[in-house]
Amino acid sequence: MAETVFSKIIRGEIPAKIVHEDDQCLAFHDIAPKAPVHVLVIPKKPIESVDAISEEDAGLLGHIWVTIPRIAAQLGLAENGYRVVVNCGRDGGQEVEHLHFHLLGGRRLTWPPG
Ligand code: 5GP
Repeated sequence: MAETVFSKIIRGEIPAKIVHEDDQCLAFHDIAPKAPVHVLVIPKKPIESVDAISEEDAGLLGHIWVTIPRIAAQLGLAENGYRVVVNCGRDGGQEVEHLHFHLLGGRRLTWPPG
């Protein structure tokens, strides 16, 4: 898998506004927020996309899904709700080829997406 900006953030080589870190994942504010709260939750393991998830990643993905609502609560999103988005590949709008979960909230989000 090619090196990405997220690998550099994990290693602390470029700065990010980190809101959560543990041994398996990292969460930080998106540099170009699309909502009042826009955080990216990423596995530290370099998985390219949803399409590259394998059976051995099941525990890691479970951990991320348990962690996302905790981060949402920490950021004050639990009461009004929020959206979790994962873009995959070109048609899905994925720009950074390191699996990431967009956590968006702080305003009423529209549906369907563009
Ligand atoms: P994607 O389009 O791949 O689903 O989302 C990639 C996200 O990463 C975008 O929302 C973009 O703003 C964010 N991003 C790209 N480069 C950086 C960076 O250097 N730092 C941070 N914090 N976010 C970034």
